[in-house]
Amino acid sequence: MAEPKLATCIVDDRSYPIEAGMFLYELEKPLYNQIKNEHHSATPKSFICDHHLLDYRIGRIDQMIHSDDLHNQRINRRLTKALQDDNYEVTDVNKILRDTQTFGERVSDAVARFGGSWTFILIFVAILVVWMFLNVTHLFGVKFDPYPFILLNLFLSCIAAIQAPIIMMSQNRSADRDRMDAENDFHVNLKSEHELRILHAKLDHLNQSQLPHALEVSRLQLEMLGEIRAEIERLRQEHERLNQSKEES
Ligand SMILES: [Zn+2]
Repeated sequence: MAEPKLATCIVDDRSYPIEAGMFLYELEKPLYNQIKNEHHSATPKSFICDHHLLDYRIGRIDQMIHSDDLHNQRINRRLTKALQDDNYEVTDVNKILRDTQTFGERVSDAVARFGGSWTFILIFVAILVVWMFLNVTHLFGVKFDPYPFILLNLFLSCIAAIQAPIIMMSQNRSADRDRMDAENDFHVNLKSEHELRILHAKLDHLNQSQLPHALEVSRLQLEMLGEIRAEIERLRQEHERLNQSKEES
């Protein structure tokens, strides 16, 4: 039987049959680099035994898990910080406006609401018609404002003069409400944007490191399984050989 080829393990300088290990050029780049970092004399033609290779592989897996973990923690810290930093309280615009409302403002709101309704127009038209009808027909002897209704004109002018500033007051209040709404929206948007940015970073990390790392881990596992299988095969052959030689003798 041919003498098995021997190679020297780069880690412990002992000789092993070449089936019991790998040459560094057969390894993946990251693993190779890691061995190279710790053993400066390593070249692609150096040999490493299965036992030490396993240590390096496990070390590599640990390293990937650890770096992913660190990165995740960093992103989570940023997210937490962003959430804590934002101490703007979203205000309840309706409540604030209701609480700070004065009696005059309440009245102006009510007047503006009533003045801008069909009810108001219909009542107003009805009053005008009745007023003119009474003063034209002199029904029941009423003629306090004969044609061309000068008193009515005076009333109408007064109502118009008062109504305009009241409506303006009410409009100012709705402008206040809009401004507060806009402020709320601005802060909420800002916060969402910030969170979105961090979530993006998280997703990028997941895509760009964690997923490739997970794949690499499973590749390392497959390699280890392959080696175990080869080892079992080798042992089985040896076993058969021993059995044969036992039968022969
Ligand atoms: Zn070794």
